[in-house]
Amino acid sequence: MSECIFCKIIEGEIPAERVYEDEDVVAFLDANPLAEGHTLVVPREHVERVSDLDPDLAGRYFRPVPEIAGAVQEAVGADGATMAWNEGSAAGQEVPHAHLHIVPRWDSDRHGPIHALFQAQGEVEVDEAGLAQSVRAELQAARA
Ligand code: 5GP
Ligand code: ZN
Repeated sequence: MSECIFCKIIEGEIPAERVYEDEDVVAFLDANPLAEGHTLVVPREHVERVSDLDPDLAGRYFRPVPEIAGAVQEAVGADGATMAWNEGSAAGQEVPHAHLHIVPRWDSDRHGPIHALFQAQGEVEVDEAGLAQSVRAELQAARA
């Protein structure tokens, strides 16, 4: 039996308020919401990181996201939403089963953009051309 809490939710072994499900995807309300309507969207398959998803599953995983994101915002009368995956413990991922956070936002909520997370640091020095070349090389190697 899986020890993963989200696998247990997917299997119905522990309760959650489900808002959407299909063959590949389940979405349910976050138990400790950052805002009313905070929803998690997970692939049924246990995959820890978005970067571990194979392209087919990635496509099927993302397919319902626009519809879910729209419905969540409508349901709580939000003006927008912050949507993010915390990828790995360095980024604050606590549950090791990939999950998209949909957090409803309001013009008045003053939380700012994701950029607010990084406001305390100064400018980041980047060799853009070299970095872009490295990413392209990694992508090419991953496809070889
Ligand atoms: P992470 O930090 O891994 O990106 O986010 C994990 C999220 O899962 C948190 O927002 C947390 O509130 C939520 N969560 C953790 N355990 C449960 C649970 O048992 N049920 C539900 N519905 N949400 C959970
Ligand atoms: Zn899992």
